[in-house]
Amino acid sequence: MSSIRQPSRLELTRLTSVAERLSGMWQHLSAQEVLSEILKGNAFIKNPALVSSFGADSAVLLHMVGALDPAAQIVFLDTGFHFSETLLFRDRLTKAFGLNNVRTASVDPIAVKRLDAQRRLHLSAPDSCCQLRKVSVLDRHLRMNDAWISGQRRSQASTRSSVSVVEVDEARGKLKFNPLANWSLSDFAAYKARYELPEHPLTAKGYLSIGCAPCTSAVKVGEDTRAGRWRGQSKLECGLHNRPNIIASSEHVA
Ligand code: SF4
Repeated sequence: MSSIRQPSRLELTRLTSVAERLSGMWQHLSAQEVLSEILKGNAFIKNPALVSSFGADSAVLLHMVGALDPAAQIVFLDTGFHFSETLLFRDRLTKAFGLNNVRTASVDPIAVKRLDAQRRLHLSAPDSCCQLRKVSVLDRHLRMNDAWISGQRRSQASTRSSVSVVEVDEARGKLKFNPLANWSLSDFAAYKARYELPEHPLTAKGYLSIGCAPCTSAVKVGEDTRAGRWRGQSKLECGLHNRPNIIASSEHVA
């Protein structure tokens, strides 16, 4: 189902070397400074895209992009199963932050007809559903980009404890950046309070991590913020970030 070309060993060696170099150059920069460097571009980064779910944790990075470069490319993966509140939140943040290059990447209708015409694949094979509705959509979109940016933080969940600011997405043969990787929960809350950022409408109802409606539930007090995703299943991530061969570059300390 994947539509990506496997990068060669030589390409991956070069990317790893670039990632280590950038990681070293940026190790004392703040998240905003790192993001600014990425969006400005350099010899190694020419066409990055920020991939955003416009979920509960998305406003901070989107706000930073709006302040630095409102024309930066932002990609929203439309799985066909989003909460209506998420679509409204996407439109609200886009307008509030003056973002003028938000692109919606949609699922291939022919693949959906072939693999999930009844829209029930998430019930029987959620990994295949995420592959169809998220991973392959991102793979296809990122063919146009040499790097991508996400809002992942180590403090979000135990499954994200090894996220680095600069990584190599080995499966896609791209640089991947997580400018907020080192931010604690309190860093994050302080930024939101300082700029009075709006909350996703479902956050007040206990949805602390928000994906597709059929696979997201509210979180109880004391639970991990991602406990409401695929509740009752062993599945923890959709596969966008934890492709088996994403390799982290050297640790970033800023
Ligand atoms: S989160 Fe659920 S509905 Fe959305 S793509 Fe994954 S399995 Fe399918």
